[in-house]
Amino acid sequence: MAIRAVVWGENIHDRENATVRAIYPNGMHGAIASALNEDPAITATTATLEQPEHGLTAARLAETDVLTWWGHRAHGDVSDAVVERVAERVWQGMGLIVLHSGHFSKIFKKLMGTPCSLKWREAGEHERVWAINRSHPIAQGVGEGFVVPETEMYGEPFAVPEPMETVFISWYQGGEVFRSGMTFQRGGGRIFYFSPGHEVYPIYNDPNVRTVLRNAVRWAANPAPAWSGILKAPNVPTEKAPEPIAERGPKLHAAGEAGFR
Ligand code: ZN
Repeated sequence: MAIRAVVWGENIHDRENATVRAIYPNGMHGAIASALNEDPAITATTATLEQPEHGLTAARLAETDVLTWWGHRAHGDVSDAVVERVAERVWQGMGLIVLHSGHFSKIFKKLMGTPCSLKWREAGEHERVWAINRSHPIAQGVGEGFVVPETEMYGEPFAVPEPMETVFISWYQGGEVFRSGMTFQRGGGRIFYFSPGHEVYPIYNDPNVRTVLRNAVRWAANPAPAWSGILKAPNVPTEKAPEPIAERGPKLHAAGEAGFR
């Protein structure tokens, strides 16, 4: 079965900003989904903020292998219940690709547990994206790296936890550097943060960026069954211990009682 990807887009700049609308007549989510659908191993559909439950119902997420996330202006409008639902699916094993200004999304901050802040500048400068782990599956097909001809600068320090692997580092014309492609694991779920994607340039039409997006979805897809019990914290009765033991010592909880949360 093909990898089921859902491309989530905030879809505000795409509709309201003439520059963005001209570059992406079908929205940034439309461009990203079209990149993914060039791979016969991926079936990508889209979901947007203005849809009921932001297009991310529990039923749809249950049938999603990898979710991509682009947000910017309206992070605060994303419902906490939906964020909680997405986080739970990541812990269960769903892959998550967080793009560009999604660094400040509720879901990314929740899963990182850090401020996710960074430096930035809109000066139309070029960006050299260096593949520093050239054997990583996400870096295949882009050689030593590639150049994004015009973009917004994102600079270090980027306040995220130390990643599982740094796949890309970017250098900007103005001198700053940024860890532009990083992997994380949270519970059963693989997460990839990828910074290229500033909305006023046609970055999601760039062949190298589209290759990275496809690679990332393939890498993040976890074929294992959903880890449905990951939120449970069972109180294991003494007689059910894997090895026989005699119960001793004072106890705070009654046998079989649920713990505090
Ligand atoms: Zn931007």
